[in-house]
Amino acid sequence: MFPNDFEYVAPATINEAVALLQANPDAKVLAGGHSLLPAMKLHLSTPSMLVDIGKIPELKGIHVNGGVSIGAYTTYRELETSQEVVQRLPILADCASKVGDPQVRNCGTIGGSVAHADPAADMPAVVLALNATMKAIGPQGERSIAVDDFFVEMLQSALAPDELLTEINIPPMPARMGSAYEKFKHPASGYAIVGVAVMVHLATDGKVSDCRIAVTGAGPKAQRAHAVEDALKGGSEVDAAAQKAGDGLEYLSDMSASEEYRAQLTRVLTRRALHKAMEQAR
Ligand SMILES: Cc1cc2nc3c(=O)[nH]c(=O)nc-3n(C[C@H](O)[C@H](O)[C@H](O)COP(=O)(O)OP(=O)(O)OC[C@H]3O[C@@H](n4cnc5c(N)ncnc54)[C@H](O)[C@@H]3O)c2cc1C
Repeated sequence: MFPNDFEYVAPATINEAVALLQANPDAKVLAGGHSLLPAMKLHLSTPSMLVDIGKIPELKGIHVNGGVSIGAYTTYRELETSQEVVQRLPILADCASKVGDPQVRNCGTIGGSVAHADPAADMPAVVLALNATMKAIGPQGERSIAVDDFFVEMLQSALAPDELLTEINIPPMPARMGSAYEKFKHPASGYAIVGVAVMVHLATDGKVSDCRIAVTGAGPKAQRAHAVEDALKGGSEVDAAAQKAGDGLEYLSDMSASEEYRAQLTRVLTRRALHKAMEQAR
């Protein structure tokens, strides 16, 4: 199928891109195009203009500044091969390496993934676990959005239509911190039927002092598994805490997996990811 006609523009600056989005309410940002173009071909999305952000240098790259700052137009391939990311944020490099296939990883961007807020996408769980902050620029200027407020609903992020996501900022990771991403993937697309991202921090006595656990694929948006986090911080053993992974989460049932199956996958993947992250933290 062919998409509807559209105008194509490739601005050179963030301000130009924002001005184009503001002046054209039907316009859409084009990043790697691996979610948007299929949606346009299926006529699920019919923008009158595509604002290609691939020629804006400030949106690309990985910068270490205490934490790690990632330009929205950074591809999965750049994330999985960056030594800075591999060493400082191994969960992010590992997650990027598990997305789709090489063609998807060469074009798809971290900003496109989180802005699209696909319920089965991998990155939303990982940025939630890593407690990222999203930087966006719109006609009213710049704002920071805490990741806990970013994923609003299925395919809906907190970005306004005329806002551009510019950076994903990951705070510094302390010592005795471990993380892991475990995914049960759809055999055809590679998307997560369920994916669980875990970040744990251990105190000097080896007890969990902080943790963030996020689940993708299970429900309409990436969600925190607060029941598991509370159990671990309360002193529960990993296996017992992981059994609570289904508590308080919203589940979807579709042709790929039932609600019950997704709930069971969530418990199993949470247990596996937690064991890996604890091992790394020790
Ligand atoms: C065959 C195939 C397999 C795939 N497998 C997986 C998988 O296993 N796991 C997975 O997570 N994903 C998978 N994907 C999706 C892929 O990761 C997409 O690349 C990603 O979801 C979107 O990133 P993009 O850069 O291509 O964004 P686009 O498709 O260009 O954009 C997606 C949406 O985000 C908006 N947008 C993009 N960038 C910005 C920005 N900076 N600011 C504001 N809005 C923005 C666009 O307007 C659009 O609405 C797969 C895709 C395909 C085609």
